[in-house]
Amino acid sequence: FLEARDIELSFGETPALRGAGLSVAAGEILAVMGPSGSGKSTLLHCLAGILTPGSGEVHFDGRRIDTMSEAERSALRRDRFGFVFQFGQLVPELTAEENVALPLLLGGTRRATALKEARPWFGRLGLDGLEQRRSGELSGGQAQRVALARGLVARPQVLFADEPTGALDSLTGEHVMDLMVGAAREQGTTVVLVTHEARVAAYADREAIVRDGRATSLSPDRIAS
Ligand code: ATP
Ligand code: MG
Repeated sequence: FLEARDIELSFGETPALRGAGLSVAAGEILAVMGPSGSGKSTLLHCLAGILTPGSGEVHFDGRRIDTMSEAERSALRRDRFGFVFQFGQLVPELTAEENVALPLLLGGTRRATALKEARPWFGRLGLDGLEQRRSGELSGGQAQRVALARGLVARPQVLFADEPTGALDSLTGEHVMDLMVGAAREQGTTVVLVTHEARVAAYADREAIVRDGRATSLSPDRIAS
């Protein structure tokens, strides 16, 4: 469904990925683990069509995305992908409700409709009453749940989550993971989840480990042992 093959990518002289390969099945939740600086975020950005690898191929839903034009790729990111990053990255000028509705607004949905679709997420994620707050007026855990709602509101085929619980205490992190996995399963969203926490990775169907710019997939029975 989503696959990176033999990806090489360097930032100037620094090689970040050296022959990394990874595939994700439709509806699967894959955890990507590995040491700091090993290339996890870079690999996620290649899979999401944000970065173009120096060599190798990225395929999504039968199409090759690394050779697409930037216009095609940004349309793909807008229409089929959702994103959640480590520090939420909410737009500070917008209310929580507008932040959640943003992907729909960018996709051309009318404002009233987008806000209406954003609303149920507040109850679902325990954010009732916070709709009109700006991001500076939310706690870290609340902001992260708003970012999660924003990542899922457009019902993306793939959710890319880079350390989505990185800024949260472990209890809040588990709560956010429960919500994320529950919502993803409910709407059939495939999830690529970068994390360094084994507890967070335990929510995934499968784990891949990135080391020195190369990825190894672990089978579920190896995770269990
Ligand atoms: P972490 O767990 O700390 O987030 P990571 O596994 O996500 O690490 P990457 O962010 O993918 O690691 O970085 C891989 C390598 O590429 C590192 O050596 C990093 O310093 C380098 N790198 C990443 N982004 C850039 C950039 N924009 N410019 C230069 N080097 C970069
Ligand atoms: Mg990273």
